[in-house]
Amino acid sequence: MLDNKTRFSTCWVTTDKIRPCRDGGQSSSFTGKWQAGTGKFAVEFNTELPCLHDFAYNPHHPTATRGFLQGESRIATDGLRIGIGHDTHRLRQGGPLRLGGINIPHDREMVGHSDADVLLHAVTDALLGAAALGDIGQMFPDTEASNRGRDSADMLAAARDAVMAVGYRIINIDCIVFAQRPKLLSFRRAVCERIAGILQIEPEQIGLKGKTGEGIGIIGQEEAISAECVALLVK
Ligand SMILES: [Zn+2]
Repeated sequence: MLDNKTRFSTCWVTTDKIRPCRDGGQSSSFTGKWQAGTGKFAVEFNTELPCLHDFAYNPHHPTATRGFLQGESRIATDGLRIGIGHDTHRLRQGGPLRLGGINIPHDREMVGHSDADVLLHAVTDALLGAAALGDIGQMFPDTEASNRGRDSADMLAAARDAVMAVGYRIINIDCIVFAQRPKLLSFRRAVCERIAGILQIEPEQIGLKGKTGEGIGIIGQEEAISAECVALLVK
């Protein structure tokens, strides 16, 4: 991937981003070319630069050239898209609780036209929003009988296919589930692995946190569960 690895001994690059070195700021200067293996960029360096560690923490470093700044900026932001999703479903007596694409033993279940998987709905909307492809309600109208009881994993997979079809891939998602019960910790790993499987990414690309309602409001009184998700995509 790198043309001259020896010159990059204190700095390294992935296919989609430059990262600072990890040695506490040891300077290195070089002339060379960075070529992304499968990424979208190729940057020529033809001037002496401080170590990227210096650059990363001091964008106004006096020895960083304007040409490099423009190149780094282009790599860092071109093609990046962020999306947000939010959803709420009512709870009723019953079970199991369908959340994050798995069934969780619980004494309440969520109510909805589909399987009411509030977390997968938030993730779906975050992906669609990042790619400006509308929302889950447009893709799967709740007025259509075919969507009754639909597995939300199917909807999320369709959203994944839709964003990939226009050239995006997922960098990461970060989610919050707002539920008084059950505690998220015991099934967090299983949910992350399930969502990763649907999205065809690694579990490490998924953040998942749980928050209670502090015993008040619709969350705290266990009348509903909400979920939020942000998704970062790159083209
Ligand atoms: Zn929903």
